[in-house]
Amino acid sequence: MTMKTLGIHHITAIVGDPQENVDFYAGVLGLRLVKKTVNFGDKVRYHLYFGNEGGKPGTLITFFAWPGAENGKVGDGQVGVSSYVVPIGSMNFWEQRLGKFNVSYTKTERFGEQYMQFEDPHGLRLEIVEREEGANSEWEFGGVTRDVAIKGLGGATLFSSQASKTANVLESVMGFDLVANEGDYTRFRSASDLGNVIDVLSTSIGKGVNGPGVVHHIAWRTNDDTEQLAWKKHVENDGFDVTDVKDRNYFKAIYFREHGGILFEIATDGPGFAHDESLETMGESIMLPEQFENEREKLEEILIPVKARELE
Ligand code: ZN
Repeated sequence: MTMKTLGIHHITAIVGDPQENVDFYAGVLGLRLVKKTVNFGDKVRYHLYFGNEGGKPGTLITFFAWPGAENGKVGDGQVGVSSYVVPIGSMNFWEQRLGKFNVSYTKTERFGEQYMQFEDPHGLRLEIVEREEGANSEWEFGGVTRDVAIKGLGGATLFSSQASKTANVLESVMGFDLVANEGDYTRFRSASDLGNVIDVLSTSIGKGVNGPGVVHHIAWRTNDDTEQLAWKKHVENDGFDVTDVKDRNYFKAIYFREHGGILFEIATDGPGFAHDESLETMGESIMLPEQFENEREKLEEILIPVKARELE
């Protein structure tokens, strides 16, 4: 059976101080903080979600905040670069924006597209590319207006310890189409208009280490619970160990590690982020899953308050 993911659901990375994280992704990049919750496996630390106005799959980047932890190392077995798509003609705005907040960037070209590459305050590698495809975000924040706002993730570059095997998993297991080769990169596409372009770097850059500044995992989209179970079977048939279904409140998740060392998740599109609070106010309060609600008082004492704020 052939199965095809629509592309990226979310990318999850590890960062340090949570307010620094919010200031960068909301304050500088203008994304919406769509959910303030805790890591369900480590409830004393934040899990913060950023996306477009509704937190649509394909627009989401999420963070485990590990303040005070030793930095990780970007390397093989990780998503090396996360790409953001902006509307055609908005690159000048972003150059000025990053300049204003003293974020240094370099420009590079790949597959005929111009990229602006930079790092977040904790060392996570990011890039911005203009593309026609993908709906404009409806979210406006801190001087980032809809005509220039980040639409969502354009894709990612995977750093693998076994690049040809990772490429094969993308194509034969996840259902991506191989579209081009250029230098050290192989490009894959899916049918969606966001989160749809995946590049695999064919050369090794040395083993990565988990910690602030690196991506923890990448999640691919599936429609619903039924299709997710079909994915589980499909991936297991290819010889991978797949976890049981985990309820993440805003989606359901299964995980497996591909041959190149990268942790893959397959996540359902629903129920989404307005599942436990209103669309208008989501992201403002700490939301806890039912099983932690009786510990709210204690957890709110441990978790330093953070909020999305406009920066000067
Ligand atoms: Zn995830």
